[in-house]
Amino acid sequence: MYPGGPEGGTIRPVKPMRHALICLLILVMLPAIALGVGIRTPDGTVEVSTQGDLLDVVAVLRLTGAEVHFAPAAGSFIATLGEHELQFTPGGALAVADGRLLSLPGQLRQISGAVYAPLASVAALAAPLGWSLTGPPSAPVLAKTTTRERLVVTVVRAEGTVMVVVSGTARRPRVVSGTGSVTLQFTVPIELAAALPTADELRGAEVSDDAITLRLAPDQEVASSYPLEDPPRFVVRLQKAQTVAPVAQQPRGPVVVLDPGHGGDDLGAQSADGAAEKDITLAVARAIAARLQAAGITARLTRERDEHVALEQRTAVANRLQAVAFVSIHVNASPARSARGAETYYMSTDASDAQAAQSAARENAGAGQDTVQLILWDLAYVANLNSSARLAKAIQERLNALQGIKDRGVRQAPFVVLTGATMPAALVELGFISNPDEAARLRAADTQDQLAAILAEAIGEFVRAPAGQATTPVAVAP
Ligand SMILES: [Zn+2]
Repeated sequence: MYPGGPEGGTIRPVKPMRHALICLLILVMLPAIALGVGIRTPDGTVEVSTQGDLLDVVAVLRLTGAEVHFAPAAGSFIATLGEHELQFTPGGALAVADGRLLSLPGQLRQISGAVYAPLASVAALAAPLGWSLTGPPSAPVLAKTTTRERLVVTVVRAEGTVMVVVSGTARRPRVVSGTGSVTLQFTVPIELAAALPTADELRGAEVSDDAITLRLAPDQEVASSYPLEDPPRFVVRLQKAQTVAPVAQQPRGPVVVLDPGHGGDDLGAQSADGAAEKDITLAVARAIAARLQAAGITARLTRERDEHVALEQRTAVANRLQAVAFVSIHVNASPARSARGAETYYMSTDASDAQAAQSAARENAGAGQDTVQLILWDLAYVANLNSSARLAKAIQERLNALQGIKDRGVRQAPFVVLTGATMPAALVELGFISNPDEAARLRAADTQDQLAAILAEAIGEFVRAPAGQATTPVAVAP
């Protein structure tokens, strides 16, 4: 036998020309084909499609055992695993994890019908589900988070206030205030690294899989809570329970808290002839409260007289009363003397426009150094955004009708006084005191009563709306 094969046929060499063409075709097609990467999981290595450095988000999340589906009405994906729920929208860099807004390190991109994101973003999405995604983009490792974050709880006293400081994790918990307790709900398993310190203000703590509940002394309540950095800590500031002015009847049914802006040394905005915002807001808030009470809705004020009340204490009152709505009442000012009209806001980290940003900057002036942290922290209350928007809309529509304005909408801005509210919350600027005509009207008793009447009507409508409407699904803030 001689070389040539058992069949005795001749060897047909690949034609050099055709070979070159095939190579060229592969090279040209390479970038267009979705390639893949092997992700190491507890069940072995699984191929997931990639676009450059971007990973197929849904495919990775499904590897955790999560159920992922697209909700066309919300325009977003919803992943559920155990008790955890994750919502994310293609094109955005935000997600909502267990009711908390989550900022992603990179954008979620929609490419040929699938959602792709950098490994860091996919890892941030997997974390609230209890999974970690680590390693180089060429060889990622997906593993169940088994290590518990070891928390250290300390009690710090400063400037007459008591702060419970939780360190050992960079994660921000969701804060749920109860009667005589506060629960810090984490998205990962936790444990206490050391025994709870003894303090008069703390009666103990219960640790569950991913939450810690602090039992407070009967005279204590949560004033505010916020994260700090370097090292990461989470602070729950306590205060002596505020005495709330008595009302004619025992609170039965829904409670609404009205917040007359400013007070005491803090005059708020002032008109050219010396009218102060703090007096107008108190007069209008009192009138709204009287109308709500007459309509059978319990209304409380954050201040009953001309006194200073810290911004963060104002929502603490509402939280403690488990109010169904919080409405902060203000009067606007602008360097432009022609600026006029009422505006209603609800909380957002971003101002919807320049005027909204200006109003927020002015109203936040009374806030302390924790302002920025507070604003960041308010993202946790994204769950109330839709209800807050509905409350603000009910108010603004009536204000528009009163003033014969058709198109003024509800605005969003980062108001410190709305941070920490655990219920739907809105802020109303009744008008511009910097505008001489409006200043005169805002001081007039009949205008104040007119404004109070429509605000009471709007709040009443909101409170009486069917509960199903009050809990519309969470939307990611624009
Ligand atoms: Zn104000």
